[in-house]
Amino acid sequence: MNKICIFCSASDEIDETYFTAANNIILKFIELEYDLVYGGSNLGLMGFTAKIFHENKRKVTSIIPEKIFKAVGNPDFVEDCFVVNSMHERKLKMREMSDCFMALPGGFGTFEELLEVITLKQLGYIDQPIVIANINGYFDDLVVAFERIFTEKFAKPEFRDLYLVSANPQHIVRYVSEYEPFNKNGFL
Ligand code: AMP
Repeated sequence: MNKICIFCSASDEIDETYFTAANNIILKFIELEYDLVYGGSNLGLMGFTAKIFHENKRKVTSIIPEKIFKAVGNPDFVEDCFVVNSMHERKLKMREMSDCFMALPGGFGTFEELLEVITLKQLGYIDQPIVIANINGYFDDLVVAFERIFTEKFAKPEFRDLYLVSANPQHIVRYVSEYEPFNKNGFL
């Protein structure tokens, strides 16, 4: 396992504490020689994340739809850039290339990407570890919404294990390193 796909904010306006905490988590993955797959922006936590991987001599791969690529180009810390036709194609390529997924705090784009991989894992299409990096408790409300899904039986209780929610860098890398396939018994 050595490619992590990170979904995160493309906003430069967020609080500095998000960058500091994200840095601590990212460095743990770099210690384990992970390379990065991400959406190709130089903005916000996205650009910040890619720069850290690049500065630490890890490979940065961006997967970016043509429409966005035409508007923003390719940041110089990206080593390998795939320009694709659509957001759908981007997410498919990200999944094919990545050994694990992590959402750092972000907006609609991040939520959409995170929920898609959780849904696909629930249906047995993918089986990589998924981490929700709950920096500053940013995802607390989402976790409460997820809990209602389980308590009202919209999803099986074992699907709580589709993902890890943690802000602790050691905990996160241990989860990914020791990950056991979720769908090993083929539940569908
Ligand atoms: P958001 O969480 O709404 O800031 O969106 C972040 C997610 O959407 C990222 O993981 C990207 O895949 C995608 N995204 C949003 N803005 C951009 C951008 N300017 N360039 C490339 N990808 C972007």
